[in-house]
Amino acid sequence: MGRRKKIVQECERLMDEPENIRNIAIAAHVDHGKTTLSDNLLAGAGMISDETAGEQLAMDTEEDEQERGITIDAANVSMTHEYEDTNHLINLIDTPGHVDFGGDVTRAMRAVDGALVVVDAVEGAMPQTETVLRQALREGVKPTLFINKVDRLISELQEGPEEMQQRLLSVIHDVNELIRGMTQDMDDIDDWTVSVEEGTVGFGSALYKWGVSMPSMQRTGMDFGEIMELERNDNRQELHERTPLSDVVLDMVCEHFPNPVDAQPMRIPRIWRGDDESELAETMRLVDEDGEVVFMVTDIAMDPHAGEVASGRVFSGSLEKGQELYVSGTAGKNRVQSVGIYMGGEREEVDHVPAGNIAAVTGLRDAIAGSTVSSVEMTPFESIEHISEPVITKS
Ligand code: GDP
Repeated sequence: MGRRKKIVQECERLMDEPENIRNIAIAAHVDHGKTTLSDNLLAGAGMISDETAGEQLAMDTEEDEQERGITIDAANVSMTHEYEDTNHLINLIDTPGHVDFGGDVTRAMRAVDGALVVVDAVEGAMPQTETVLRQALREGVKPTLFINKVDRLISELQEGPEEMQQRLLSVIHDVNELIRGMTQDMDDIDDWTVSVEEGTVGFGSALYKWGVSMPSMQRTGMDFGEIMELERNDNRQELHERTPLSDVVLDMVCEHFPNPVDAQPMRIPRIWRGDDESELAETMRLVDEDGEVVFMVTDIAMDPHAGEVASGRVFSGSLEKGQELYVSGTAGKNRVQSVGIYMGGEREEVDHVPAGNIAAVTGLRDAIAGSTVSSVEMTPFESIEHISEPVITKS
């Protein structure tokens, strides 16, 4: 059996274990390294070759789009990662980094429970960092921070340990100020600020594929001095091998992002104004795959063979081929033609996609991004508001 086929089978097995699922987005100001980081994660999970990572082939779909004549607004991909002897299914949604795509970023946030916010160590938090944080927090999506391009501080700007520490602390401080300001009036969100000690902050270089966090430094025994030495002496391959970025980030994802079972009870009241005493509310809170089907479409893409593909989050029940489902705001029902998951931007058909997962569905001809699709008529999810921002000219 091919490697890819094996990964698909493992993903299918893990789809039925919501405790071991993490639905995440990577969000960043443009050019801060989101695409490079995403590719690293895919390579780390064995989805693309290590050499290809960094050349931005898997998630950066523009070329792909032209070649295959398809449009992918926010690429989705599922991968597996072993953490503490347990395999996890990580469903990653790539969010467009450009200001014009703000709407897509917001929609992607609806489908996930955790947002890895990437900030360039040299530029620091930028206006779009603020926007993506606001989008995440408003949707009840928990943030963690990855400070990228640390190689530049060491090798290019030749910063010493103290100067570098100051700079990193100031990025963390700025991000936490934003988080604090945005969550102070939210009763249901505890302290969602990020912290090096707790392991919700990672640092590194997506370009050179190394990364560190407090837990990773404890595990590998490497300290910042050694890391600086290796980076400065151009021993980046050794850095990558000894402290690979993908392990550090995916460990952080598994440890600190909530699984759907923990996330949905808190998220449902935020994004759905239906009767919270109803059975439907209960099955959504419980991520019950035996409940009625509730699917929120966050993106529609065109596939040259299959036509329109609706992707989004299954909040309850289990999506299967042949189901007749209501689409909010339209009359009648649509019949599901196929259900699948995304692997490196490619759709793989599977038998069913249960609650807690990101699914790719064909046959929902009346659905648009933002539609609520369900096996019983229901109050639709709150519409996804687009947070706009001023257009920034980069220097
Ligand atoms: P995105 O717009 O956030 O997706 O950013 P990209 O991943 O496309 O990266 C933008 C640019 O920054 C590209 O030229 C990357 O090669 C470069 N880049 C990304 N990560 C790093 C890093 O860790 N170090 C350095 N020096 N450059 C990086």
